[in-house]
Amino acid sequence: MERTKPPTFHIVVLPGDGIGVEVMEACTQILEVVQEVNGGFRLLLKTLEAGANYFQTTGEDISEKSFEEARAADAILLGAMGLPNIRYPDGTEIAPHLRMRTEFGLFAGVRPVKSYPNLPATLADSRAKEIDIVILRESTEGLFAHRNSGVVEDDRIARDVLEITRPNCERLFDFAFDLAVRRKSEGGPGIVTCVDKANVFRSMAFFRQVFDERAQRYPEISAEYRYVDAMALDLVRQPWKYDVLVMENMFGDILSDLGAGIVGGLGLAPCGEIGTQHGLFQPAHGSAPDIAGTGVANPTAMLISAAMMLEWLGQQHQVSACKRAGQRIRNAVFSGYKEEEIKPFEFGGSSRTNDIANTVQNRIQAQ
Ligand code: ATP
Repeated sequence: MERTKPPTFHIVVLPGDGIGVEVMEACTQILEVVQEVNGGFRLLLKTLEAGANYFQTTGEDISEKSFEEARAADAILLGAMGLPNIRYPDGTEIAPHLRMRTEFGLFAGVRPVKSYPNLPATLADSRAKEIDIVILRESTEGLFAHRNSGVVEDDRIARDVLEITRPNCERLFDFAFDLAVRRKSEGGPGIVTCVDKANVFRSMAFFRQVFDERAQRYPEISAEYRYVDAMALDLVRQPWKYDVLVMENMFGDILSDLGAGIVGGLGLAPCGEIGTQHGLFQPAHGSAPDIAGTGVANPTAMLISAAMMLEWLGQQHQVSACKRAGQRIRNAVFSGYKEEEIKPFEFGGSSRTNDIANTVQNRIQAQ
């Protein structure tokens, strides 16, 4: 009988700088293991150089060839890029992935905020153990749409422009509602909250108007609203009441860091940057030069970002084995915290980067 080949996915791996390299090493170890244990698909990982160190040696943040390889890949995995002492000539941080966001149309910044067991509590309320929300940050327009064309006139007035477009809002809100539908099928409450400042800005009122229009298509999901200031308050006061929060780029930039803060820290904050054709997955943290090279970086956010990548590939290409493999990584990480085998340095524990990778590997192999 003829054997069919399992679906194969080309993944461009960009470890980047600082702890990006260290957490990526843990991640590729786990991806090799999970595809072997799970079966049903293959990943062809191709590691490419890019970032601040690469810029220092070559004068470019990523080569054109690598950029095009990333464009052609089925998905991109990124560690972290940028170092405080290596900058573009205009003083900004080295970040070739920001160009990928716009060039590859990665409009949906998916930033899950989830509590892990046995970590020091940031919020005193015991319900903080139940936090499981997703911040959906629009990632290609809003206040970042014209980020390179702000002006300062006569050293007296500075001006930036915020832009919201209908087509992008429509696909963003559809993404938010589809996500809430999927989460509802897994026991979630089925709520999408539009976070805006519709009481003050014309652009935000338009954002909300399009949200209302798209909400009509999803009668099974409850569509709610919060002004961004009230949302910041509620993220600290009662985040467990929310499900999917959708918002403009700059609001999402700020609230997603607050989200990471309420569950413990950046080492726990994964991120998927998703478009209709492309997906880039990375932890929300930076290159953390203060701990780079010491082997203590927490790879949790990187591992969960890789799980998100597998789940996204599975969904895009209808490969259920990929989805299961993503779930295996999640289960292994979560149970590692639950059984107190994972105690990251980040939270005063003694688990080093490779200890955490080995624990997750053992748990995947034992599943
Ligand atoms: P960027 O602006 O590039 O996103 P940042 O200024 O937000 O970076 P990070 O590099 O993310 O800064 O680091 C912020 C702090 O969080 C540092 O003290 C760093 O050591 C810590 N940190 C970040 N990621 C991790 C991690 N994975 N494990 C442990 N600590 C981390």
